[in-house]
Amino acid sequence: MVEAPLLLGAIEAGGTKFLCGIADRSGTVLAQVRIPTTTPAETLGAASDFFAEHIARHGPLSAFSVGSFGPLSLNPVAPDHGSITSTPKAGWQDVDLLGHFRRTIEAPMALDTDVNCAAVGERLFGSGRGLDTFCYVTIGTGIGVGLLVGGAPHGGANHPEAGHIRLPRAEGDHDFPGICPFHGDCLEGLACGPAIKARWGASAETLPSDHPAWTIEADYIAGLCATLTYVVRPDRIILGGGVMDKHAMHARVRDALITKLAGYDSSIRALDMDDYIAAPTAGPSAGLTGAFAIAYRTATRQWPMHWAESAPDSLIAPAHTELSDA
Ligand code: ZN
Repeated sequence: MVEAPLLLGAIEAGGTKFLCGIADRSGTVLAQVRIPTTTPAETLGAASDFFAEHIARHGPLSAFSVGSFGPLSLNPVAPDHGSITSTPKAGWQDVDLLGHFRRTIEAPMALDTDVNCAAVGERLFGSGRGLDTFCYVTIGTGIGVGLLVGGAPHGGANHPEAGHIRLPRAEGDHDFPGICPFHGDCLEGLACGPAIKARWGASAETLPSDHPAWTIEADYIAGLCATLTYVVRPDRIILGGGVMDKHAMHARVRDALITKLAGYDSSIRALDMDDYIAAPTAGPSAGLTGAFAIAYRTATRQWPMHWAESAPDSLIAPAHTELSDA
């Protein structure tokens, strides 16, 4: 039986760039572009132009999916469904993301968080392979948590906001007020990249490995991991983002997490920490890959697990994909 052709459109919408792409049923990327995130009119206009050009060339899209920075309104019955809501990113508050594309693209549409899309990408090509329930955390300009539960991105009334939980203050870190514009010293306010810079007067990239910043940082990230362990009971927690890149942060978090879990529960005690706390491995375009997979699922009601089974360079393999600038 010959399968019907499928044309998938996807965007990974980030604070600095929008990655837009078109792929077919096999996951082969037919076209891809990187658009700088400036004003909504400029960036969304350029994205629409890209899709219009390729729809004219390849035909109508079977489904279209966006993975975006948030917070987002994801509840289909909410009046602002499809919008970016109270983001601190200037000019992007209350931008009707899906509404914009509905005006120019006729296809079933899906929207999810950038971190949920990255989690889907990690499940296909990275550290989430073979797992149905795991967490994907990014610690960079903010702290985002994606949850794959039972093989699908978790979202209830809206997406989780685990980056904004409040944790006990780390030893030696009681005076810094935190930088979250909403909560001050929530996790993101204390431990994202800009918080490290605000606390120490130097960026995460320039602080040496023996600086006390990293012990404090590991304490907060381990606090998040302890909470995720108890609430979600994931098979793995993937920790990515610029702050995790150096200073043996995964090892520091493992050590701090063991202390925090305090030997409670035999199944948690039995966790292999080297396996449980992992780095992402699906490459820098995991979010776009995940958005393509969600578009595929929107069109077919199935996950494209065949992409993961045979992933030569012609399939979506983010590390091998050359991007051209718009
Ligand atoms: Zn906060």
